[in-house]
Amino acid sequence: MLFDIYPIQNYTLEQIEYEKNHRLLQPVWDFIKNGNEHILSSPLFPPFYALSIDYTFVIVFTIIDLFLYDVPFFKNTKIQKDRKVTWNLMKKSLYLQMWNQLLWIYPMALVQLVWVPPTELPILAPTVFELLSQLAIYFLAFDFTYFWFHYIHHKVKFLYRWCHSVHHMYSSPFAASAQHLHPFELFFVGTFITTIPWIFETHCLTYWTWFLVAQSVSYEVHIGYDFPFALHRFFWFYSGAPAHDMHHLRPLTCFQPWFNYLDRLMGYHITYEDLKKMTEAKFKKFGLYSKEDEEGLLKIN
Ligand SMILES: [Zn+2]
Ligand SMILES: [Zn+2]
Repeated sequence: MLFDIYPIQNYTLEQIEYEKNHRLLQPVWDFIKNGNEHILSSPLFPPFYALSIDYTFVIVFTIIDLFLYDVPFFKNTKIQKDRKVTWNLMKKSLYLQMWNQLLWIYPMALVQLVWVPPTELPILAPTVFELLSQLAIYFLAFDFTYFWFHYIHHKVKFLYRWCHSVHHMYSSPFAASAQHLHPFELFFVGTFITTIPWIFETHCLTYWTWFLVAQSVSYEVHIGYDFPFALHRFFWFYSGAPAHDMHHLRPLTCFQPWFNYLDRLMGYHITYEDLKKMTEAKFKKFGLYSKEDEEGLLKIN
């Protein structure tokens, strides 16, 4: 049951003991908690944790982008092969993000320290069903809401010019540009990711897993590489890096951040293959004869 964990006061000691021995995630939860209670319950832990996910993605992919670009695996999987990620490109984004963090993120973390009570660490782990079903609902809810936020920010010109165009300064994304956002957009996305688990009474393990999932997916769509093990290759309804890369290249396509059912329904889902076909069709219609049509004709230059 979704709300089964917190009213632990209704459980008898025997029931708690029974649940402890039967929940699959209990050993994981006990291992995470063991000796770390004072760190995990601190109101500073969630922002510190979220920032460490950001920094890990940025550091790992910055090393790949700047130093491992020539490794055949990365070279072959890079989506926009003609757009090399350079330190010059990157530092402009890191400069904006430094200001965003100094002016928004760190002060918000300090506000949390004053206003938010320490996190209560439950004795019991969430059940697997509870963790997975809540994550799925949060995932769907964020994806749906951000689609409309995003769509409106492209369709209402003043919103695009004032806010979302900041994110589109890069037409070829890379991991370090995922958080290249106008402060308003950063505030909206941050608030939404933080508050969406308030739909249910969410176990802190589920809450932290949600942060890991949400941030990882947001980085994944910006990495600029189409890895052979990427999720979109296995699930046709998942956008992945190629779709969001396409959005940066052609900003009036592929609005949905994580899935693609709304883009498909509304006709905005375009792939690189489609783009190639459109260019070929355009050439066919307006530009050139095909090879067969010109076969045997004399050409001087
Ligand atoms: Zn983007
Ligand atoms: Zn956009």
